[in-house]
Amino acid sequence: MSTRFSLFLLGLLFLLLSTCNKSLQDLSAKKPANNIILLIGDGMGLTQVSTAYYYGEQTPSFSTFKYIGLHQNEPTDKKITDSASGATAFSTGYKSYNAAIGVDQDTIARETILEWAAKNSKSTGLVATSSITHATPASFFAHVANRNFHEEIAADFIKAPVDFAAGGGYRYFNQRADEQNLLTRLEDQGVKVDTNALREDLVFGTRYAFLLGPDSLHSIRGGRGDFLPSATRTALNYLNQDKDGFFLMVEGSQIDWAGHNNDAEYLIDEVLDFDKAVAVALDFAKKEGNTLVIVTADHETGGLSLSSQKVFGVSDYGIINPTFSTGGHSASLIPVFAYGPGAEQFMGIYQNNDIFTKMMNCFSK
Ligand code: MG
Ligand code: ZN
Repeated sequence: MSTRFSLFLLGLLFLLLSTCNKSLQDLSAKKPANNIILLIGDGMGLTQVSTAYYYGEQTPSFSTFKYIGLHQNEPTDKKITDSASGATAFSTGYKSYNAAIGVDQDTIARETILEWAAKNSKSTGLVATSSITHATPASFFAHVANRNFHEEIAADFIKAPVDFAAGGGYRYFNQRADEQNLLTRLEDQGVKVDTNALREDLVFGTRYAFLLGPDSLHSIRGGRGDFLPSATRTALNYLNQDKDGFFLMVEGSQIDWAGHNNDAEYLIDEVLDFDKAVAVALDFAKKEGNTLVIVTADHETGGLSLSSQKVFGVSDYGIINPTFSTGGHSASLIPVFAYGPGAEQFMGIYQNNDIFTKMMNCFSK
């Protein structure tokens, strides 16, 4: 082989590697995604995603994605995951037991992608329609053995490097068994706390905690309005001021609760609302570049099926009848939608904790 041809092959190999994978990580100082936005629709399996296509008024933002994969989500101790071990797999890269928050199966605290981002001079944000201490958001900043320890999770929050938080749950900060007022402690640390409304005029360098309800926020039909897409937009405008980049997690928390309630109307409202937040993230990524957007769920809830309606014993294919097979979670594989630098990595079928590795492979320092 001539030297010139070997050099050509070497060049070709380098080009192939530069699509963002582990080998490149060691070779290149600059990885392509300055920002990562991870949107989690809790309990949103493929059937829940499908409802956006049958009950929504416009083309769902899911249709924008070209890189789509599936993840398998069993925890270490059971067959079917809960939201705590599901989110911990995404946030730390470790599969763990059900109820684990930011700890591995031996209850050892593991660094989360949010903590890594903060350590690498990026800004960080969390948006949820549950309490900020609930399993999914908690798994990104807290390290506790059990998801039910809301007051311990709130205590972890005040030590955590979260620059922007919007959700509910102030009662775990100011109505505690230990009678401490952690909202005051947050304010003493310079965090601007607001328990009434989201504000738009946010100053870069100041940290914000919008805790807009004592526990979870209202459902859409309960009057939550456009909180989720609005808070996502506010977070992005604020975080984008950091030229070192950011990590933002956005959760549509209540898709799961609607599934547990076997309430199709509630579920569809929450999926359509989540889809609006996805649209906000995609608009940002298209405009700004350097942003990896991942949309997925921890697991499916309710065993939802978009069945045909039975009329006098005969299936009527003209009518969709949403039905549920359980009040709990199911074991089905979960779709992953990816857009931006490194998105092609998310094709295929893999484990839930591989999502952490795939995100980290692309996340710039
Ligand atoms: Mg959740
Ligand atoms: Zn659930």
